[in-house]
Amino acid sequence: MRADVVIVGGGPAGLICGEHLAKAGLRVVVTDKRETPNREKPCGGMLTERAVKKFRISLDVAERELYGVAVSVGDKQFNVDYHERVGMNVDRTKLGLYLAERVEGEGGVIVRGEKVNEVLFSSQGVSCHGNGSYECDAVVFADGVFSLSRRSSGWKWRRDQLGLCVQYIIEVSEGNIDMLFGDRNFFYYGSEVSPFGYAWIFPRRNSLVVGVGALLSKVKVPLKNYLDHLVRGHPLVKPKLKGGRILKFETAVVPLSGLLKTICGERWIALGDAAGAVSAITGEGMYFAMESGRMGAETIIESYEEEWNCMTKYGERLRREIGGELKWSLWLRDLFLKRRGGESLDVTSKLLQRLVSDLLVGRKGCRRVILEALPLVALRRVRAVLR
Ligand SMILES: Cc1cc2nc3c(=O)[nH]c(=O)nc-3n(C[C@H](O)[C@H](O)[C@H](O)COP(=O)(O)OP(=O)(O)OC[C@H]3O[C@@H](n4cnc5c(N)ncnc54)[C@H](O)[C@@H]3O)c2cc1C
Repeated sequence: MRADVVIVGGGPAGLICGEHLAKAGLRVVVTDKRETPNREKPCGGMLTERAVKKFRISLDVAERELYGVAVSVGDKQFNVDYHERVGMNVDRTKLGLYLAERVEGEGGVIVRGEKVNEVLFSSQGVSCHGNGSYECDAVVFADGVFSLSRRSSGWKWRRDQLGLCVQYIIEVSEGNIDMLFGDRNFFYYGSEVSPFGYAWIFPRRNSLVVGVGALLSKVKVPLKNYLDHLVRGHPLVKPKLKGGRILKFETAVVPLSGLLKTICGERWIALGDAAGAVSAITGEGMYFAMESGRMGAETIIESYEEEWNCMTKYGERLRREIGGELKWSLWLRDLFLKRRGGESLDVTSKLLQRLVSDLLVGRKGCRRVILEALPLVALRRVRAVLR
């Protein structure tokens, strides 16, 4: 098969990129190793409103619309509610189907159940090989954390660049979810909950995603022990899960590295998880994956018109638009989680509660949160000295 561009991987990054390219009139093929692109990708499923709005995501994929968050840090708890929607919890299989339909609606081709094993570059172009062979001018690696783009160089993730996640999907009646969780996502911090990370409960229509994430290098005992303790022993969580039935256990890793050093070359670019585009403090990846897909497509469209000689502009573009935010997310994570998983942070101030919440729902970036929190932190220091 011949195309202008082949996209390896049909997650949010690859599918948004494919839609933009097809819309611009390029012949695009997206291959995914799954029969349904992105089927059952392990994920909390929280899609922030910035992604919903910017990428016009239909409410049809929403399992629950979100209007607030509930946060507990050690033994302190707070809720922040908003007057407007701040995001939605989605089912990843439904999201994959929906985004794939959008690609096809623009004339792009999706090849389902096609795992690409090898990508070869020559002066004429690129060829991708799986069950079939695909000739193209440029290739997009949107194949997730263990991307093919890294394999030929022998590059490997370090343990301090990856987050390990474990989660249960728990069936609970819709009535109980409405009563106990409503339209909030729940976040739990503290050394009891995760060795260096946080735990979450994200409600869907009639199930809950209950998970724990931690920086892989800090995990010394099986992370599932933390998850089981959360579900069976945490005083705030246990009563909320009464009568629930565990449907599924999932485990997966997520990049927490900031943007990787090499994310493009003469005829290739890497998107989403394959480029390290995930917030290290919140774990939000879908928005950054979609953004990288959009920017990747814009660069490819320019390159297509310029004889493929400006693909490396993608790296500059991505670093300029989201690289800073991802760098700050690493800094803020280390600052926040360093001491007892965040328990040392005094979250009694309403301003701080609002800032934490704005960060979690993607209404404010890390840099803005740091700047707005600075006066508060300084005031507390002065008060402590005067006391
Ligand atoms: C447990 C967990 C919870 C998370 N929770 C959230 C959350 O609540 N909100 C959020 O925004 N982010 C969350 N994330 C992060 C988010 O899931 C990812 O950042 C996001 O899915 C990245 O999108 P992507 O398109 O880059 O890659 P992926 O979604 O991983 O998609 C890659 C696709 O490539 C396909 N593929 C892989 N290799 C090949 C190959 N060789 N050939 C063909 N196809 C291939 C796969 O089948 C897959 O469909 C979570 C991550 C984890 C692990």
